[in-house]
Amino acid sequence: MLGATAPLSQLNTGAHGDRVGRRDRVRPSSICVVGAGHVGLVTAACLAELGHRVTCVDTDEGRIETLRSGTVPFHEPGLETLIERHCASDVLKFTTSYKEALEGVDFIFVAVNTPSTPEGAADLRYIRRAVRQIGRALKDSRPIIVNKSTAPVGTAETVDHILRQEAGSLGELPVVSNPEFLREGTAIKDFMKPDRVVLGSHDREAARRVAELYGPVEAPVLITDPETAEMIKYASNAFLATKISFINEIASICEGVGADVSQVAQGMGLDKRIGPQFLRAGIGYGGSCLPKDVKALAHMAGLYGSHPQLLNAVLQINVDQRRRLVHRLRQTLGSVEGATVAVLGLAYKPDTDDVRDSPAIDIIRLLDNEGATVRAHDPVANQNLAEILPDVTYCSDPYDAVNGCDAVIIATEWPQFLDLDLEQVKARMRRPVLVDGRNLFHPDVVRGYGFTYLGIGRPDHLEEPLVLEPQPKEA
Ligand code: NAD
Repeated sequence: MLGATAPLSQLNTGAHGDRVGRRDRVRPSSICVVGAGHVGLVTAACLAELGHRVTCVDTDEGRIETLRSGTVPFHEPGLETLIERHCASDVLKFTTSYKEALEGVDFIFVAVNTPSTPEGAADLRYIRRAVRQIGRALKDSRPIIVNKSTAPVGTAETVDHILRQEAGSLGELPVVSNPEFLREGTAIKDFMKPDRVVLGSHDREAARRVAELYGPVEAPVLITDPETAEMIKYASNAFLATKISFINEIASICEGVGADVSQVAQGMGLDKRIGPQFLRAGIGYGGSCLPKDVKALAHMAGLYGSHPQLLNAVLQINVDQRRRLVHRLRQTLGSVEGATVAVLGLAYKPDTDDVRDSPAIDIIRLLDNEGATVRAHDPVANQNLAEILPDVTYCSDPYDAVNGCDAVIIATEWPQFLDLDLEQVKARMRRPVLVDGRNLFHPDVVRGYGFTYLGIGRPDHLEEPLVLEPQPKEA
């Protein structure tokens, strides 16, 4: 494999996409980022950090006002500092005006939302609207349009079509698909040190110019046609979701046969062909990407006459994980009708306040439907969940949340929950039942405090694994 700074003479232009050598210094460009959400803001701030001049445009006036006042509208470690620094030196700006944002730009990154339609397809209306606005606002410049939103195969063509309609007089504008792989919570590191940069375009020169924007970012760049680039994003997310649903299915079998899924995952993960990542059993994946992207890929498959049986199973297992958890709680308590249950962790994962498709939402709805009262706590996501589920009692402190409860469910693996004083938690509860939806705690530790412990795929009596490392050979 060629390194990121491999000379251009070492180009591999084979049928499997190009790996290109790149400059390790940035030639500053003028860039517009459309959409000031998780991806747009991180992209804008990181491109400014790489030395470019960036203007970020969003149609949400409140969001732009918030950003101009120096506040980031969501929780993402390190982002506020980066934005503050580059706004202060005037290389990063925010606006609601496309005219202002597109003035003299060389590149336009589109990073708007692509939520699910009720049928599970990716809703492209925000991309279409954004591209139409771009086409109308462009005057005489010919920037490269880069799509960062996750969008189905064919979207680059749709973008091209809209640009011809709205800005046909400018001639054909280069379109590059550049799917984003960052994870919320570690988004800046993921942008600056990605595993790869994928660029899809029929215009290879345009793709190379986008590659140059990333300059010193040390990662292989893979240049393909747009259809392949768009598919790489969906296939990657579907694979990650499959790994999660796979280990969750194994966890259910472990519960039947009395094996410990954590040790099973450890044993599997030591196999280099499998690897340890994304093999943590729990209440399933959530968030703004995996759920909608797996659905969109399954929907796309259907449009082309395929029956995506594996993807459908992945989706079903993910739903079942939440139901199984509530079922096991029902069995333990006798009934959840009239019970009070604390849910600790509302964000779909730690280090974010994003609650989109969070497993906690399904669990709270299931409990509510069966007549339980829910008291909820998250270190940063209470407010966001209150907008979706206003009738829940939100507590600013986990000890307050467990007061008078018949059970406590750990729904997000926030590390600070490990520091909870379980003695105090138990003393405040009506019945000491701890449902560990993320296998965060050691079962024996929790049981040692007198709790009934329900984990995912863990037997009642856990025997610690014994790992014997190979002995160094004598010289
Ligand atoms: P988001 O909802 O956080 O932000 C989208 C932003 O776009 C909003 O601020 C919205 O006001 C703005 N917007 C919508 N239409 C607009 C328009 N016409 N003009 C200007 N602004 C407009 O979404 P996100 O999480 O940043 O995701 C963006 C895309 O990136 C999606 O396709 C998503 O699947 C993909 N993605 C997200 C992540 C993630 O972790 N959030 C990771 C990788 C890829």
